[in-house]
Amino acid sequence: MLTRHPPEANGVNLKSLLRESDEMTVQQWQAFFHGVYGARNEERFPAEYGLSRMWLHLVQDMAALAKGIRKNDVARMLRMLPRLFCWLCGFCTKAGFELEEIVWHFFPYVCPTCWSPTCACGANKRVFRDAPQKDEKTLAEFREANAEKRPSTLDGFVVMFADVYGNHSESGNLTDVYLHFSEEVGEVAEWIRVVESLSDGRSEAQQGLTSELADVFSWMCKLCWRINCNLQGFGPWAEHQFGNAIDQRRFEIRFAAITSLQYGNGCPGCGQAVCARQCEGWDTRLAKASHQGGVVD
Ligand SMILES: [Zn+2]
Ligand SMILES: [Zn+2]
Repeated sequence: MLTRHPPEANGVNLKSLLRESDEMTVQQWQAFFHGVYGARNEERFPAEYGLSRMWLHLVQDMAALAKGIRKNDVARMLRMLPRLFCWLCGFCTKAGFELEEIVWHFFPYVCPTCWSPTCACGANKRVFRDAPQKDEKTLAEFREANAEKRPSTLDGFVVMFADVYGNHSESGNLTDVYLHFSEEVGEVAEWIRVVESLSDGRSEAQQGLTSELADVFSWMCKLCWRINCNLQGFGPWAEHQFGNAIDQRRFEIRFAAITSLQYGNGCPGCGQAVCARQCEGWDTRLAKASHQGGVVD
């Protein structure tokens, strides 16, 4: 069910998709990022480095997001969310997964722990029905029953997770959501270590990895709608900085819009539609070091 993107996904044609970024599916976003970063990622993360080295980049940006939250720096938060999404897409491509498929697999418009369309388990892990959490048969039943509700866009998934988890007891404030997000990022790291250490049993480990990647995406969406509330004191500034990426009436972030704002011209690090060799991004220590001749301050 999960296949690699074809090389034809590379190229500037995908840029035209960004003009309709609100309409892009998560699968199209993954293909778009592959067009911009596929070649660069193959250069940076050759097979012998495995998946772990790539996941480190997401961890780095997760830490940068923590700094933004700690300092209530909304601009930093709005920069980091698209970057985290970009790394998640790139990682899935490298691992051979379709992000949209694995998210819908585990979250068919229902909480896969308590099986409620509006999560009722909260911090309490008590299972409300007979089916154990993430049971494959029950997931398949919900995928079929809710097929017409399947989100078609990135912001559609944000809305889905808001519907399911808006009242979740651990979704009350941004710090709590971030903590849960970081927990899931760590669990992916755990599965990467399993996948990379096993010579057999790989498919079972890959199933565990896909489940955690879906969780990472779900908490990324929850971050998106939880940061929204924090924007209320930033009205005029946010309007100037982020234009139509913010719903001005409700101060809600549009995930697709902040992502296209950052990546609409290709890689923001080198300004190329297809990220150039040696590009190390635009605000990392590594980028500064390469500009300064190799000295990291
Ligand atoms: Zn639940
Ligand atoms: Zn670049």
